[in-house]
Amino acid sequence: MNKDSLKSGTIIKAVSGFYYVNSSAAVYQCKARGNFRYSKVSPIVGDRVMFSLTDETSGVIEQILPRKNELSRPVIANIDKIIIVSSAQNPAPDTFLIDRLTALSVFADIEPVIVFNKSDIGDFGELPNIYKNAGFNTYVVSAMNPETLVELKKEFFDCVCAMAGNSGVGKSSLINALFGDLNLKTGEVSFALGRGRHTTRHTELYQNDLGGLIADTPGFSSVAASQNPLEFKNSLVHCFKDFEPYLDCRFTTCTHTCEAGCGVLAALKDGKIEASRHNSYVALFNELKDIKVWNRNKG
Ligand code: GDP
Ligand code: ZN
Repeated sequence: MNKDSLKSGTIIKAVSGFYYVNSSAAVYQCKARGNFRYSKVSPIVGDRVMFSLTDETSGVIEQILPRKNELSRPVIANIDKIIIVSSAQNPAPDTFLIDRLTALSVFADIEPVIVFNKSDIGDFGELPNIYKNAGFNTYVVSAMNPETLVELKKEFFDCVCAMAGNSGVGKSSLINALFGDLNLKTGEVSFALGRGRHTTRHTELYQNDLGGLIADTPGFSSVAASQNPLEFKNSLVHCFKDFEPYLDCRFTTCTHTCEAGCGVLAALKDGKIEASRHNSYVALFNELKDIKVWNRNKG
């Protein structure tokens, strides 16, 4: 195979043995080269691939490029950002859910972006500042008010994003307000996350008008990235990047939950770490602590 004749692209949909590969704003229907079946890796949505053309609109996937990350529920690779959405009311913000999602995202090498939606019907008190201070790109918006969405929209530029957050926070309203033309481009039924479309388990990536892709999946609130819970447990404190400057503890075995001489607890006491973030850390730590550690070095 002449390498020069290969095209590169991203798998945006996988259905019945066909892979739909987005390449320079065109979509090619591809089959996978038979030998993938014998190797451990098979193509999944989000994969960057090299493919050869068999005619103008179809081709064969020749190579899967190394994955930056891979989630198992939903099955998807190479997500760059997770847009974590909360709302002022119906439902009210849940800091534990936000913090769990940020930690899981960091663990999977995905950048979390924090969005507080429905600013037209309530305010968020100190929450936006808490997340800004913790180092996250944070937006206060209303899907009903386009002016509030200008800055947030830039997050979707040229990257692969997924939305996360409780049902009812406004994920689909935001997508529609930001990219009202997604449906036209894909020719699919309206982009309604979590409204019955997901009787199908297929994840799909939609092109937005900024050269980026958006995952059509409601699944990240139940995530997913904890596919390796033991490793997640062992790296939990590093998934709270706002704690990292203070990881200067008397004991190397410090769990940063209750120990004397703990740098994280000192920072908490000094107001350098937010109490709600630390509470979430402790809650996650307690959830994870009984995971057995004897094979901690296995990947
Ligand atoms: P999803 O389940 O996260 O996709 O949430 P939806 O987009 O379906 O929104 C749930 C409900 O909240 C719908 O009735 C929306 O009209 C409403 N909603 C979404 N965003 C806003 C907003 O910014 N302001 C107000 N007032 N209502 C909103
Ligand atoms: Zn400590």
